[in-house]
Amino acid sequence: MTYDDQNIFAKILRGEIPCDEVYRDEYVLAFKDIAPQAPVHILVIPTGSYVSIEDFGLNARAEEITAFYAAVSKIAQGAGVTSDGFRCIANAGADGGQEVPHFHMHILGGAPIGPMVIKS
Ligand code: 5GP
Repeated sequence: MTYDDQNIFAKILRGEIPCDEVYRDEYVLAFKDIAPQAPVHILVIPTGSYVSIEDFGLNARAEEITAFYAAVSKIAQGAGVTSDGFRCIANAGADGGQEVPHFHMHILGGAPIGPMVIKS
């Protein structure tokens, strides 16, 4: 799990690429997805360098993990999706369809999100 510091979210964290910021604290940055798949589509990322949810869960410090999941809840509340419901997705690796190798949680809501997976 070698972290590539040239990935697009690393560049956003360093301020090299702009984002539509929703939330920021010491441990977390959240911003709107550039290609939203729902009326609300927010990406939540740790400020630390973790490739995937697996890397994050195994290697992040307890305060980073606590801050991350607390932020996901606060951001979902702030986006106004908690009363009608929402979905969190963390794609991991090739089979998971992860495109950007910096751990991120998608928050999707604002309308019914549909089936959990598309059956082929
Ligand atoms: P993944 O497939 O890795 O779980 O999701 C990556 C997400 O990042 C996609 O939903 C994609 O639209 C989003 N994304 C890719 N590049 C950028 C970018 O430069 N800015 C923002 N805001 N989102 C991006």
